[in-house]
Amino acid sequence: MIEHLPDRLDLIATAEAGRVLRGSVAVAEVERLLPVLTSGQGALQVELSLGKDAGGTRFLAGTIEGEVVLRCQRCMQDMQQPLDIEFRLGLIRDESAVDKLPDSYEPLEVTAEPAILADIIADEVLLALPIVPLHKGSDECQAIVEAYQPPPDEQRENPFAVLAKLKQKQ
Ligand SMILES: [Zn+2]
Repeated sequence: MIEHLPDRLDLIATAEAGRVLRGSVAVAEVERLLPVLTSGQGALQVELSLGKDAGGTRFLAGTIEGEVVLRCQRCMQDMQQPLDIEFRLGLIRDESAVDKLPDSYEPLEVTAEPAILADIIADEVLLALPIVPLHKGSDECQAIVEAYQPPPDEQRENPFAVLAKLKQKQ
């Protein structure tokens, strides 16, 4: 059964029950993300699957797709950063449980309060973003276009130098 994404969720109880949640989240609502973005426009497509694996680990697995706008650190203009994120989190109640978590999961510590899904989404997106955002090439990056200079043509001889050589021979 696929349900709409709520704002907050009791992760442990939902994992016990086993659920798939899917929805579109406005970038502007993912508040922790906004400081690194130049625009809050757009939306992220999010799918979360909660359950318990054969070993008894409660998990939150998911995908996040969409696009955010970052600032290129070379030309300081906007750049579109596509997102195609997959994550697999093992739900733990306290840090001491990290050691018991299978390697295939990243730990997510769960408190007694229902988790704010936008915060979890923000953390996963932040992990996936480049540390130094840069346009890929001169098609997009204004700084590369401005810095570009044609390579000097070393093969072509200066016509005056050619004349000087001819004069020396005479
Ligand atoms: Zn750029």
